[in-house]
Amino acid sequence: MITQNVLENSVQFVKGVGPKRAKIFKKVGIENIRDLLYHFPSRYEDRRHILPISKLKINQLQTLKGKVITNGLRFIRKGPAIFEAVIGDESGNILALWFNQAYLKDKLKVGSEVMLYGKVEIKKAKLVIINPEYELLENGSFEDSIHTANIVPIYPLTAHLNQRYLRTIIKGVVDLYAPMAAEILPSNLRYRLKFIHISAALKNIHFPKNEVFYQQARKRLIFDEFFLIETINAYLKKKIKTKLRGIRHKNKRQLNNLFSSVIAFELTPSQKKVIKEIKQDMMSPGPMYRLLQGDVGSGKTVVAFYAILLSILNGYQAAFMVPTEILAEQHFSLFKKMLKDFSYKVVLVAGKLSTGEKTKIYKKIKEKKVDIIIGTHALIQEGIKFKKLGLIIIDEQHKFGVLQRKTLKEKGINPDLLVMTATPIPRTLSMVLYSDMDISVIKELPPGRKPIITWWVSEKKRVDAYGFIRKEIQKAKKQAYIVYPIIEESEKLDLRDATRMYEHLKNNIFKDFNVGLIHGRLSSKQKDSIMQDFKAGKIDILVSTIVIEVGIDMPAASVMMIEHAERFGLAQLHQLRGRVGRGSFKSYCVLVSNARTANAKSRLNAMIKCQDGFEIAEKDLDIRGPGEIFGIRQHGFLEFKIADPQRDLKILESAQKEAFALIEKDNFLNWPQHKQLLNYLKSKLDLI
Ligand code: ADP
Ligand code: MG
Repeated sequence: MITQNVLENSVQFVKGVGPKRAKIFKKVGIENIRDLLYHFPSRYEDRRHILPISKLKINQLQTLKGKVITNGLRFIRKGPAIFEAVIGDESGNILALWFNQAYLKDKLKVGSEVMLYGKVEIKKAKLVIINPEYELLENGSFEDSIHTANIVPIYPLTAHLNQRYLRTIIKGVVDLYAPMAAEILPSNLRYRLKFIHISAALKNIHFPKNEVFYQQARKRLIFDEFFLIETINAYLKKKIKTKLRGIRHKNKRQLNNLFSSVIAFELTPSQKKVIKEIKQDMMSPGPMYRLLQGDVGSGKTVVAFYAILLSILNGYQAAFMVPTEILAEQHFSLFKKMLKDFSYKVVLVAGKLSTGEKTKIYKKIKEKKVDIIIGTHALIQEGIKFKKLGLIIIDEQHKFGVLQRKTLKEKGINPDLLVMTATPIPRTLSMVLYSDMDISVIKELPPGRKPIITWWVSEKKRVDAYGFIRKEIQKAKKQAYIVYPIIEESEKLDLRDATRMYEHLKNNIFKDFNVGLIHGRLSSKQKDSIMQDFKAGKIDILVSTIVIEVGIDMPAASVMMIEHAERFGLAQLHQLRGRVGRGSFKSYCVLVSNARTANAKSRLNAMIKCQDGFEIAEKDLDIRGPGEIFGIRQHGFLEFKIADPQRDLKILESAQKEAFALIEKDNFLNWPQHKQLLNYLKSKLDLI
């Protein structure tokens, strides 16, 4: 199909591609011409330096130029066909060999001028170059060489598409289509910041003539990636603040009394400050769109509870969405307990409900017979209609994608939205991910918390760790978690698993204690009853997988042992460890691991040294790089091709500043000079 914008045309129509190869391209995510233009090299090789044959150095990659003096095919028994050519210049000769490329005999004819690039060796006292990249110099000039004699792009390799082929195809596309790329940067911005035109950038990122051109192209394209996201964020923020009519919650006299009658402790200064910020947002006419960051155990739930009270006292419903059923259950029983003396109704929407029960609950939600609705992503499923949704709270935000945020938001008439995360987000990333939101931070933990004493021991010391756990839980009412990376024995991985270890611990090591087992494959009913038993102290040691990673609040648990700790990411370990130390007594975390890799060692050492979530997040970013964390990839439009928020922080800052300034002037990109930009954003995002 030929579309209006040629860059959207399928790669199939590109010279040298065709339907069959188009399928291969599609497998690696390249569907149209724009995708090809934006398929950037992963590195470059500088092949500009051409040496006389006599000056070539052994065992180095080099470029040479000469004439084909003799050529021929050689066949060895059972081996591949070998094409041989002797190449010579004024200074000497070299033998070039290609395996399995018999067709070259028709290309590299005697007398033709060629350029070769490859590793030079000495075989039987002769200079030899094996499987070099070659280029025919048709009119004696190598101005246009793309495989040799220039700075040559090396693309991320994809099966069935070799470098030479890809380079040739992309060269054709760049020559033909880069000049047609739409310039989305407003020209005054482009001149002021001295950026080259997008067409030049696309040409020079693939085939730079020199370093300066390359750097200009790179800078321009990195800026583009950040600028587009920041413009989207700025646009959304502006729209939320000015266009959307939100709910104007009113302050209620009973609010503070009601709150303090159910909360037993004094709020920390941070909690107070954050509550004030949230309240202000909720009472303003525009919708709240706020991110609450607070380390594990910093007390985000009560803050959420305050906001919920404000909303229901105003006669609205409040939805509280959490990533796991265990957590939904926990919040449900906490809220029910806190509100037991009041007439407000709390419901749980969970996977375990029968269809009949669900229908009943959905009906109640629709008719506003219930005020607080707690659930997992079941909450964003089609069936649920709210009568009067005033507030949405999303706990442990990092587990949800942007899309889920958006879908839930569409359920009410611009309800206030508060998303909470215990994964501290390094500034660079939050600049990219959340610059459309307002941000509140809980800086300190409630008083009396002691650092969780953390050890890393080798597997040889496991028995000692058992002994320590035994001693610890013998103290009044203390409990322990023992965490494994997998549920059941695996053929592929030689790891201890939760199921078998549970049997072993229950029957041998901790016979005299109550041992429980929890993991993701249990039904929600089973999970519930185990967590209830643990809470009630009927279980002393809970054997578990990563299911307890987020949010679980069991103040009596004081020791955690994590087996094969090297298999968990740093952020995961921090979250897991956050399950203990939630009371005021000393808590411990024992990491068991025979880690050998530098990466694993640095993670485990970081756990011993730091307790602070922000510090750990920064370390994690260093160790893993930004792509892995926070599932940036799954955000779709946040997939960076060339930019790296951490490395390119300066450009990011500038892009953010420019984008917000632009939207400040032309709120909704209505000016004619912003038309291309608006069109582009529209093509990426339906919410504009
Ligand atoms: P998170 O921020 O990880 O969600 P929670 O909200 O689950 O943390 O709170 C952790 C624990 O700290 C809970 O048991 C909670 O009751 C308690 N808590 C919260 N705020 C305070 C406070 N200001 N003083 C004492 N304990 C608090
Ligand atoms: Mg929590």
